[in-house]
Amino acid sequence: MKEIITYTNSKTICSTNIELRLYKQNLLPSIDAWKIENHLLGCEKCRTKLNNLSIPQTSHLQKNMYLQFKKRIAQNLCNSLELHQLTNSFIALDKCQPFATYEIIINDTAMSNSQFKLKKPKLDSVFDKGISFEWQGQLENINLIIEDNATNPILKRKIHNNHLLIFDKEKFDNGLYYYKLINSNTLLKIGKFYLYKLQI
Ligand SMILES: [Zn+2]
Repeated sequence: MKEIITYTNSKTICSTNIELRLYKQNLLPSIDAWKIENHLLGCEKCRTKLNNLSIPQTSHLQKNMYLQFKKRIAQNLCNSLELHQLTNSFIALDKCQPFATYEIIINDTAMSNSQFKLKKPKLDSVFDKGISFEWQGQLENINLIIEDNATNPILKRKIHNNHLLIFDKEKFDNGLYYYKLINSNTLLKIGKFYLYKLQI
């Protein structure tokens, strides 16, 4: 009987739009989802709100941030709501604004040819400690250049396949970076990634 009372007599606070949005997208940790479900049972207002909520467009970056920090969410080191808010403020940073010229090249450059096909990193990935470069093809090593979103060169080195680059804290702040992969003066690939060190 006790459970029924908590359901019908639910005096929990109404869910916010963000919470309902995340709930609808299955992005909430189960305990938070359960709290919302419990509330929905006793609150018609929120049920209507949920039904009328159009499926939100989760940005690509939002999804990647979620994937990157999924483990921490599962371990309750942070929650989806915090991550959602952090993502929004992260995207708004000057250091995350895309550089138009590169954005066009990224979309123009063919992803692969017989000599070289990049497997990692995937486009728009989010990293916090390091980044791996992996490709298919015969090339043993290639030149890597990393620039920030204002095209300032941050790093230049020759890399082997499966190279793991650990970010030097002094050189890399949170933000958007572009990488160029070059083989004997030929640009093989230009891509981008985000660096975000989660503090919570
Ligand atoms: Zn409600």
